[in-house]
Amino acid sequence: MLEKINQRVTKLEIPGTRQFSNRVSALRDGINFTIGEPDIPTPHSVKKAAIKAIENNQTGYSHNAGLFELRESVSNFFKDTYDVKYNPEDQIVVTTGASEGLRSVFETILNEGDEVIIPAPCYSAYEPLVDLLGASVTYMDTSDTDFVPDPEMLRSMITDKTKAVLLNFPSNPTGKVLSETEMAPLVEELASHEIFIISDEIYSEITYDAKHISFSQYPELHDKLFLIHGLSKSHSMTGWRLGYVLGPSELMPHVLKVHLYDTICASLPSQYAAIDALDNSRHSAAEMAATYRDRRDLIVERLTQIGLKTKTPQGAFYVFPSIEKFNMSSFEFADRLLEEEHVAVVPGSGFTEFGEGFIRISYATSIENINEGLKRIERFVEKLS
Ligand code: PLP
Repeated sequence: MLEKINQRVTKLEIPGTRQFSNRVSALRDGINFTIGEPDIPTPHSVKKAAIKAIENNQTGYSHNAGLFELRESVSNFFKDTYDVKYNPEDQIVVTTGASEGLRSVFETILNEGDEVIIPAPCYSAYEPLVDLLGASVTYMDTSDTDFVPDPEMLRSMITDKTKAVLLNFPSNPTGKVLSETEMAPLVEELASHEIFIISDEIYSEITYDAKHISFSQYPELHDKLFLIHGLSKSHSMTGWRLGYVLGPSELMPHVLKVHLYDTICASLPSQYAAIDALDNSRHSAAEMAATYRDRRDLIVERLTQIGLKTKTPQGAFYVFPSIEKFNMSSFEFADRLLEEEHVAVVPGSGFTEFGEGFIRISYATSIENINEGLKRIERFVEKLS
């Protein structure tokens, strides 16, 4: 029967990140720098809100778009944070994590043969989601432009097949956060085309040197912008599966249809927890970001001492140093580091061909692990040099 299943599914591969994290988890003394989720517990009051919901038997379906009260909380968050108005009635859909938000938007806008442009290196789950719909991804190289998408390059890549541009800042895997001067020409270019913009801002609350600027802050983009957001990273809620999509009122009813056929609604106890996260526990995200900032400072200082050149990440919890000088592929570097020093990192090639020559280190792990892991990386680099 195998040959009868969807050929697009048979072609899918398990992401490279998994291989390294599975291998390191089998080692007693392994240090795992591959993890893409916070190591800090979900805030106490958020957990209590979910427990209360369960005890009150609030365990059924909700409105397909999510509890109205939660959509109001999301709307208030955008008003307070970015001074942007999203109407809870028809511009917000609560989803099963940012992942389902992405899938719902792709299913809403993509026809077979369409193309989506994505600056790369980038998160590895975008392309499979696009491929499954018979559309395709065209990657835009940002490895020579400090991980900033070049508006002229973007213009040259747009064809009549281009349906959308997907952006992810703060970026996984680079930690890049766009400044106002970097955003302005990009927004101008994006505004001049009849294409959708999907902005995955799941790491928006984890920035270190400057506040995140949201694409939603540019009114000229509003009629074509879908914002992908959620609480997985800001409130350590990856397993709660709680995200949301915001977009134009004309288009969101279509996203809602896809979402309701895909999942009916997001988990109800998670939705009650999310109300607490957005109304009462916004400070928790800032506290977590302060913890990551200390780790970021330590890791950048140590990598520099070791001689691994890196841009200082300004957001998310990843650093993306260059390993180009070692004359080996990023896969070989990661493979040998794991074999010889029991330290797992993700090869840059796991984030498209434009990530080759880099490795991704996640610092969503303790200071002790960071110190021990970097000691071993230093020893490994000395052996190579
Ligand atoms: N977008 C990016 C850039 C991510 O890195 C991740 C998870 O690592 C997701 C989306 C998925 O988020 P969620 O767990 O809310 O589905």
